[in-house]
Amino acid sequence: MTIVDTPERRQLRELTRSFVTREVLPHLSDWERAGELPRSLHESAAKVGLLGIGFPESVGGSGGDLLDSMVVTEEIIRSGGSSGLIAALFTHGIALPHIVAAQDEALIERYVRPALAGTMIGALAITEPDGGSDVAGIRTCAVRDGDHYVVNGAKTYITSGVRADFVTTAVCTDFPGSGSLSLLVIDKGTPGFTVGRRLEKLGWHCSDTAELSFADVRVPVSNRVGPEDTGFLAIMQQFAAERISLATQAYATAQRCVDLAVRWSRDRQTFGRPLVARQVVRHRLAEMHSRTEAARAYVHEVAERVAAGQPVVTEVAIAKNVAVSACDFVVDAALQLHGGFGYMRDAEVERHYRDARLLGIGGGATEIMNEIIAKGMGL
Ligand SMILES: Cc1cc2nc3c(=O)[nH]c(=O)nc-3n(C[C@H](O)[C@H](O)[C@H](O)COP(=O)(O)OP(=O)(O)OC[C@H]3O[C@@H](n4cnc5c(N)ncnc54)[C@H](O)[C@@H]3O)c2cc1C
Repeated sequence: MTIVDTPERRQLRELTRSFVTREVLPHLSDWERAGELPRSLHESAAKVGLLGIGFPESVGGSGGDLLDSMVVTEEIIRSGGSSGLIAALFTHGIALPHIVAAQDEALIERYVRPALAGTMIGALAITEPDGGSDVAGIRTCAVRDGDHYVVNGAKTYITSGVRADFVTTAVCTDFPGSGSLSLLVIDKGTPGFTVGRRLEKLGWHCSDTAELSFADVRVPVSNRVGPEDTGFLAIMQQFAAERISLATQAYATAQRCVDLAVRWSRDRQTFGRPLVARQVVRHRLAEMHSRTEAARAYVHEVAERVAAGQPVVTEVAIAKNVAVSACDFVVDAALQLHGGFGYMRDAEVERHYRDARLLGIGGGATEIMNEIIAKGMGL
C-alpha cells in the first residue's frame, strides 16, 4: 500500500524536492561540520509552507495530516537530505503537538505560531540523565509557589536544545518518580535554566543535541500545557506520530541507500565487470529492496490507521521496529557494497549508516517497542 497519491501530494513532493535541492544540498556538509542548522533555514522552510505541514492553518500551520508529513520526510531523504536534518528542522514536530492539542490560545500565540513561522525554535525535553525509557520515573520536579512553578532537575540528549528558544519540558508535579507528570513550556533565558553542554554524537551531526539543567527556575503556571498531571497521557498520545515519523525516516533512508547502492553497483567495475553482473550482488540488492518495500507498506498501513484516529499502539511499535530493522540491514549492506569509499566522509551512505543508528534508540528504543508488542500479545 502506498500513501494515497493526490495532486496536492504530488505538488508537495515537488515543492520538497526543489527546496532540498536549492536550500539544503549545497550546504549540508557545512552544517554537519558546524553541528547545527542555521536559523535562516527554518524561516525559508516556513516561507515555502514546509515547516507547517501537519499543523492546522488555525494555529499558523499549512494544513495536512500525518501522511502529508510523511510525504515531506520521504522526499527530503529521497532528494539527498537526511534523518539528522529532519530531526533538527522539524523538532517543532515533537515540541508543539501537546500545546496544539491543549488548545491553549495564549501558548499557541506565543510559541506555536512563531515556531511554525520559523522565527522561534522549540524542543521537547523528556529524557533525563537517570533514564529515558522509563518516562514515569522522571525526577525533574516542579513545585507550585503562588502563580509560578519552581523547577529543579536536568534533561539530556535534547534535540535542538542548544538553539531552542523554548523547551516543552516534562516535569513531575508530585514527588520524584511518582509518574504525576505535567508539561511546562520553559523560555531560554529564564534565570536558573542553562544549556550545559553541546553533546558530540556518532551521527545526526547537523542536529544539535544538549544537556539542560534547571536550578530553581520560576515558570509561570500559565506556561503549563493542559491541566496538571495530564503530562504522561499527553506524551504517550503524541508518541504515535513521533514513532511513525521515525519509522518513515527509517524506510526512506533504506530506500535512498538502495538507490545509491544500485547506482554504485552498475558503475563500479571489479575484475573487469560491473558489480551488478555478479549474482551475489544482485541478490543482495534484491534483499535490500524487498525489506525496504515490506517496511514501507506496513508503515503506510499503520500510519493510515493512526491518521484515522484508530488506537493502534501495538502496530505503531511493530512499524517502528520493522522499519528500523530493514534500515539497519540496508545501510550496512549499502556501505559494504561501496567498499572503501563507503567508509569515507564523502560517501552519502557513510552519513546514512551513522544517522540510522539513532532510529532504534530515539522515541522509544527497540526493546521498549518489544515490551509494547508483547503486552499487545497478552504476554
Ligand atoms: C541523538 C538523540 C536525540 C534525542 N532527542 C531527544 C529529545 O529531543 N528529547 C528527549 O526527551 N529525548 C531525546 N533523546 C533521548 C532518547 O529518547 C533516549 O535515549 C531513549 O528513550 C532511551 O533512553 P536512555 O538513553 O535513557 O536509555 P535507557 O532507558 O537507560 O535504556 C538503556 C537500554 O536498555 C534498554 N531497556 C530499558 N528498559 C528496558 C526493559 N525494561 N527491558 C529491556 N530493555 C530495556 C533500552 O532499550 C536501551 O537499549 C535523544 C537521544 C539521542 C541519542
